[in-house]
Amino acid sequence: MDKNKLSDIYAKIKDFNKIIISVHKRPDGDCLGSAYGLKDIIKTTWPNKEVLVSAEVASYLKFIGKPDDIKDKDYNGALVISVDTAARNRIYDQRFDKGDMLIKIDHHIPVENFGDIDYVDTGRPSCTLIIMDLFNEFSDKLKMTKVGAKALYTGTLTDTGRFKYSGVDGDTFRSVSVLFDQGLLTKEIYDNLDVRTMELTKYKGYFLQHFKKTPNGVAYINILPKHIKKFKVSLGEATSLVNELGYFDDCPIWILFAEYEGKIVRARMRSKGPAIDKLANKYDGGGHRLACGANLGTWKRSKLLLEEADALAKQYKEEL
Ligand code: AMP
Repeated sequence: MDKNKLSDIYAKIKDFNKIIISVHKRPDGDCLGSAYGLKDIIKTTWPNKEVLVSAEVASYLKFIGKPDDIKDKDYNGALVISVDTAARNRIYDQRFDKGDMLIKIDHHIPVENFGDIDYVDTGRPSCTLIIMDLFNEFSDKLKMTKVGAKALYTGTLTDTGRFKYSGVDGDTFRSVSVLFDQGLLTKEIYDNLDVRTMELTKYKGYFLQHFKKTPNGVAYINILPKHIKKFKVSLGEATSLVNELGYFDDCPIWILFAEYEGKIVRARMRSKGPAIDKLANKYDGGGHRLACGANLGTWKRSKLLLEEADALAKQYKEEL
């Protein structure tokens, strides 16, 4: 934790009367939880400040907050805070540099530096935990309601695999305990996160019967538009099944390839052994040591990525 930089961030938030919080494309629980949690902290502490969140809606996360309708003129005189996003081109609202000042708050392995203040802590397993670091560092000045606590807890849950992934440590639980002190109630969160439609349940059956394994242990599946159409599920729902491929002890790496609008292919990559972030970087991607995304463009490139992932799995097994 960089206390000096957190002080600078606190001072800027205090200075500005208008703050726009920006998240990444295809939002997840961590970016939205960080955004709505931070918004709650700022609005509860300084009710007269205008705080807007620029984000797409993720229907399964509607219970933690709603994005705002932001006009170009809203950026005049604003402090923009980008959360949970390592590279400029991954920010959903590309007007992020139209404000008076830009702060980046992130926990991914850095792809590029940006922002007048660039705060990256890869030691935190979710970006929500960095927002909690800010809150705890200035706990004598900052306030939060249980609405903010709900958003921050949701982001922490989803990005840590419910406190399972590496990076979860004593600080994680110490931070989370503070959310309970703010009145956090978890039932609504689990009720919302644990919903699965009948359509997705049926698609999961198809998914589990059609994944493949490479010779050296990469479990993978290709998700095509025709499957999505047939099972009446969204791409977001289908790709949420990525960790269903993570149970095999002979497959240290697993990858879900999916075709998005415009025939663009993307990968969600996961590992329980070899580092995969460098491989993701080669395919316009990145993330964390063991969890990455990559923009492949074409199915041809997905084969190349799969071959390289297979070589990584082979090398990993040989070194065991
Ligand atoms: P996902 O599979 O989308 O959950 O991504 C896993 C991790 O990698 C998340 O922390 C993402 O923010 C990050 N990530 C996903 N796609 C990219 C990308 N194209 N470039 C950099 N990081 C990414």
